[in-house]
Amino acid sequence: MPATIYYENDATLAPLQDKVIAVIGYGSQGRAHSLNLRDSGLSVVVGLHDGSKSKAKAEADGLRVESVADAVKAADVVMVLVPDHSQKSVYEKSIKDNLKLGDTLMFAHGFNIHFGQIEPLDGIDVSMIAPKAPGTRVRELYEEGIGVPALVAVHQDASGNAKEQALSYARGLGSLSAGVLETTFKEETETDLFGEQAVLCGGVAALIQTGFETLTEAGYQPESAYFEVLHELKLIVDLIYEGGLTHMREVVSDTAEYGDYYAGPKVINADTKLAMKALLGKIQDGSFAREWIAENEAGREKFLAMRQAGTDHDVERVGKDLRAMMPWLKTGKAAREDAKAAMTSGN
Ligand code: NAD
Ligand code: MG
Repeated sequence: MPATIYYENDATLAPLQDKVIAVIGYGSQGRAHSLNLRDSGLSVVVGLHDGSKSKAKAEADGLRVESVADAVKAADVVMVLVPDHSQKSVYEKSIKDNLKLGDTLMFAHGFNIHFGQIEPLDGIDVSMIAPKAPGTRVRELYEEGIGVPALVAVHQDASGNAKEQALSYARGLGSLSAGVLETTFKEETETDLFGEQAVLCGGVAALIQTGFETLTEAGYQPESAYFEVLHELKLIVDLIYEGGLTHMREVVSDTAEYGDYYAGPKVINADTKLAMKALLGKIQDGSFAREWIAENEAGREKFLAMRQAGTDHDVERVGKDLRAMMPWLKTGKAAREDAKAAMTSGN
């Protein structure tokens, strides 16, 4: 069955025209959603916790800011854009009791709904619009009249109009001009977790570290190893992003291309695929989610220890010094936002 992708003609702003939209959180996504929806002519209120550092920023952007509870009370549609690991507590404390029948609860990532951390009441719609870009891009492209692609999913359709309204939201965000792919909370959540674990974050980081260790343990200079296994990765990834693996292989030398076919399957082999299947199994049966939720509840000790070990790895030490000599590298907020773009779980 071919994928369903919605475009500009598939929705209007009408379903949201007389409604109030509460955007909860004013971080990467929250700011972009609030401003785009407002500039599309919709009524937006931003919900923030007491003492939020984002309050002044949202007000300076000309938005109405309320407590999370008051924003939810005032709204018909509530988009939850606080970090995924905080959503359950924000929901229980300030959202749940302020939703009324007929309201819509929306997300930009499916984790909390799919894994049952948030169990919304029967009488409300639950949907997802997940832009496939960081907030800064969501805003920039809207201002240019283009928009970023997004995913749409419906978890609960009490009104019978949940998808129509979600697509209307996507239109206000600017995403219908780029295309909105229909998916489910299950598919979005499971593929997102698998991608970041097996390939994008976990797989790539382990590949870099292991390649670096192999070269330095053989006596090569750490600086040389850094350039070969980390720095140049960006050039390769840019080619893959532009034209797939074939384009990358067209651009690199024939020696590199032959080495690719010769070595790739030796490094990433049948055992690796078995390990990937096992990881997918833990995502699908919920055991990964249970472990991560328990780790958060227990104060993140193991997580923080692994973060420290990652920071202390030699590839990081040498990289820090080398990058200081390359001021032309894109660093700081722009680079962080780019990285978060692909990782919808974002934190
Ligand atoms: P973020 O960390 O940039 O911003 C979160 C904001 O939530 C903070 O700036 C703050 O204003 C607010 N906040 C934090 N704790 C709060 C609390 N306890 N109560 C009320 N407000 C609180 O998060 P983000 O990256 O914008 O992610 C939001 C959602 O969007 C997540 O579900 C994420 O998975 C999803 N998403 C992110 C991206 C991305 O590229 N960043 C892309 C697609 C989807
Ligand atoms: Mg992702």
